[in-house]
Amino acid sequence: MISVDEALQHVQQSALPLPSQWVALGNALGLRLCESIVSSIDSPPFDKSLLDGYAVIASDTSPTRRVIEEVHAGCVPHHAVEPGTTINVMTGAPIPDGADAIIKHEDIGIIKEICTEETIIEMPKSGVRAGTGMLSRGAAFCVGQEVLARGRFLSPIDIALLAEVGRPEVTVTPRPRVAVLSTGNELVPCGQPVEVGHICNSNGPMLLALLENNGARSIDLGIGRDDTVELMKLMEQGLEADMLLVTGGVSAGVKDLVPGVLQDLGVRQVFHKVRMKPGKPVWFGDYEHQGRRKLVFGMPGNPVSTLVSFELFVKPALRVLAGGEFVPPQPQRGILTTTIGHRGKRPTYYPSRFNFGQRDQGLPTVETLPWRGSADLAALTRANALTILPAGDYQLEAGDEVEVLTLEG
Ligand code: AMP
Ligand code: MG
Repeated sequence: MISVDEALQHVQQSALPLPSQWVALGNALGLRLCESIVSSIDSPPFDKSLLDGYAVIASDTSPTRRVIEEVHAGCVPHHAVEPGTTINVMTGAPIPDGADAIIKHEDIGIIKEICTEETIIEMPKSGVRAGTGMLSRGAAFCVGQEVLARGRFLSPIDIALLAEVGRPEVTVTPRPRVAVLSTGNELVPCGQPVEVGHICNSNGPMLLALLENNGARSIDLGIGRDDTVELMKLMEQGLEADMLLVTGGVSAGVKDLVPGVLQDLGVRQVFHKVRMKPGKPVWFGDYEHQGRRKLVFGMPGNPVSTLVSFELFVKPALRVLAGGEFVPPQPQRGILTTTIGHRGKRPTYYPSRFNFGQRDQGLPTVETLPWRGSADLAALTRANALTILPAGDYQLEAGDEVEVLTLEG
């Protein structure tokens, strides 16, 4: 049986980034940019007012100015500002020719000429400096400048910048498409009557939610009976996706048909069984089809085993498919506040609470939670981390240092 680290190395070797695709900007959030974005515009594209105010010539010493025009955002001025005159501009309006500063509306006095109906403004005593209240064309960036580098995962702000430079479509690594199949004769879809000996399918909904949290597009294949023909049909369908996640049926029971069916479908087994608890029977393979490589994870059916397998192996694989680096799970250090014993040759991933705000010896504290093993999903709802208890027979006490994996979603 291989170790978790060896299994992770196999996953790293098999996982390949998906080929890039054009997507509409509205579908690009969170995806990895596969091109360098070079601006085809100056930003701002014209000298523009940052204020609702008055466009003036800063060096003009006249104490009052005659208002000759009003320019709103989206409009263009029809006059130039000359000594003794001003144009009333709104935020976002182009700066009229001649003007080199904008004075805030609040900083001037207004005089209405009754007979001419002209508006005159009184300049502030302190005067105004050239450049005040405006942004010059190209101040943020210019035509030909790279504004976003290839390889970044697009944030909402990046999406805004792409819109600013007029890019309705971009090339990205697409979201991995992941098919989910829950297997087991005992499984009933949630919401349907549950007969004696049957249970609701909880792995399916959990995996669909985990995939959504991890930026994948899920395809729900529902429940497959422990029947070779049925499983073959469903898994064949699942192999059309970039990744197939199967739960249940990977252990050593007579109805554990998944590894055999996958191999009959041409999926190459990379590993089966990993030295870990829970999750030992986890199965991993890859499948080459029409120049594309698909990954398949068979996860033991107990929900906590499924979750631990997802956290350890599926998450890093998904990141690679989405164009990111392979990042193995990153344990953090903490100090135990509970006493816990360990027995056995496999490291245990133990549901725990990692208290970031409460420190001991300079590290966050960790509380292991009451847990009834791999079927005890309820314990996991109280957990925000898994304490990694190394293999061996020993007892840990409060105050001992441990490693934990946080569960962020
Ligand atoms: P298996 O891996 O098929 O041997 O299943 C191990 C245990 O997990 C059994 O008690 C199953 O009933 C349970 N189990 C399997 N699949 C699911 C599922 N989708 N949801 C909840 N429990 C499951
Ligand atoms: Mg089963």
